[in-house]
Amino acid sequence: MTKFLNKLHIGGEWREALNGAHFDVLNPVNETVLTSVAIGTVEDALACVDAADAAFAAWTSNPPHERSEILRKAFEIFTERLSAIARLITLENGKAGTDAMDKAKYAAEFFRWHSEEAARSDGYLGMALATGARTAVHQKLASIALLITPWNYPAAMGARKIVPALAAGCPVVIKPASETPLTMLALISILKEAGLPPGVINILPSRSPGEVVAAILADRRVRVVSFTGSTDMGRKILHAAADSIVKPAMELGENAPFIVCQDADVEAAAQGRMLAKMRNLGEACTVANRIYVHEDVEVPFVESYIQKMAALKMGNGLLPSIDVGPLVTAKTRDKAAYFVDDTVEKDAKVKLGGARPNGPGFYYPPTVLSQVPDSTACLSDEIFGPVTAIQTFTNEDEVVARANNTEFGLVAYLHTKDMRRNLGLSERLDFGIIGLNYGLVSDPAAPFGGTKKFDLGREGGKQGMLEFQETQYISTEL
Ligand code: NAP
Repeated sequence: MTKFLNKLHIGGEWREALNGAHFDVLNPVNETVLTSVAIGTVEDALACVDAADAAFAAWTSNPPHERSEILRKAFEIFTERLSAIARLITLENGKAGTDAMDKAKYAAEFFRWHSEEAARSDGYLGMALATGARTAVHQKLASIALLITPWNYPAAMGARKIVPALAAGCPVVIKPASETPLTMLALISILKEAGLPPGVINILPSRSPGEVVAAILADRRVRVVSFTGSTDMGRKILHAAADSIVKPAMELGENAPFIVCQDADVEAAAQGRMLAKMRNLGEACTVANRIYVHEDVEVPFVESYIQKMAALKMGNGLLPSIDVGPLVTAKTRDKAAYFVDDTVEKDAKVKLGGARPNGPGFYYPPTVLSQVPDSTACLSDEIFGPVTAIQTFTNEDEVVARANNTEFGLVAYLHTKDMRRNLGLSERLDFGIIGLNYGLVSDPAAPFGGTKKFDLGREGGKQGMLEFQETQYISTEL
């Protein structure tokens, strides 16, 4: 029987919440309870901030090499435990074993990348224009950081925030998603074993996120909040951050377009499309939500894509032969079903899937819809499930306008063999990341983030640590 960590972690100790309450974490495969986890209260939240504050001075004054070595050690332990972490991800999130293993490796790489970045500190010496005095410009850590994560990548969404914050010298308080707290609790255990001092990392699962987050943000010792999740929650957190003037980093909802030009390699585009769609069973912000295929290649593209989607085997992700598992909750599954029903009512054609299976588990099959009208809800909302809605286009200007016609700006995918289109169209797409003839865009060494209103800041790459730092200059006469 699997044993799960299920307590709060505050000041280096695992402990129950002050009110002793728990909530259930479900297995999406069969809707059974995996374990019950402590529900952090506002008092527990403030205890997390006290613990982080107590650890602050020592952690900050640690030489960068010491921080770097702890993170490197954590990477090594994580690497030894990849299978166990992947299994945990499958158990609480539902994704299939190979997918979960990819996501565990992706998360581990944030530890390696930021262990290396922790040892680097860029700055420059400038000269005051009027006096010739010198200005030494450098990055200082900001403060205690509050990190709030979603359920869709239980390890990586945490790693993407925790590790740069620690590398920058910030102690952290983490509020993990209630659907998937177990993987995050396991990451805390890895960091403890790697030698992270007590209080530098504190975790607070909770069922009253609004209250605990508001209490933490109101504490003047917390000057950074990094959030990944839905646009609605992001907006609420921005309001709370505005009240206390806390620096926000926000990765919110998405509506990525996927464009297949007439000169594209149709087979490669169908394969890329599948990667860009079925990663996480569609439950990812990088997932291609809208698909525009040039009318000249619609037929071969759709045929090839359906063939690939139809070959995916759905079931319990712990079994080796399974390609796709269930969705994470009944709510996510029902949302996918709603989008399909709405689109079919508006005269789209179901080319694959489209019916919810009977029985326990939050399953929804890979589904492909064609002849999708503009008015359907799944083109303007985030589907967050295994549903593909295909539209066609006739010329470049039209498809660029349609692709850019969204308030979201994280990622766009483009398939074309033409060199002029490669760069020309990429630059015209108003998105922070372009998957050019490529479906897997996320990487710890790249600055992940978008344009427009729904992404503030970057995660990963050289930029990742900047979210947890302040720029300071020291001005002096020679
Ligand atoms: P969510 O419902 O917004 O939840 C995210 C986190 O916010 C959870 O820890 C949640 O806690 C917490 N939360 C809920 N209500 C809150 C409140 N009033 N104040 C403070 N925190 C609160 O998002 P989700 O359903 O977990 O994740 C899916 C969304 O995340 C999608 O929209 C997706 O596009 C987005 N996402 C974006 C990126 C990106 O990089 N742009 C990456 C991944 C996911 P509880 O779980 O306890 O409710």
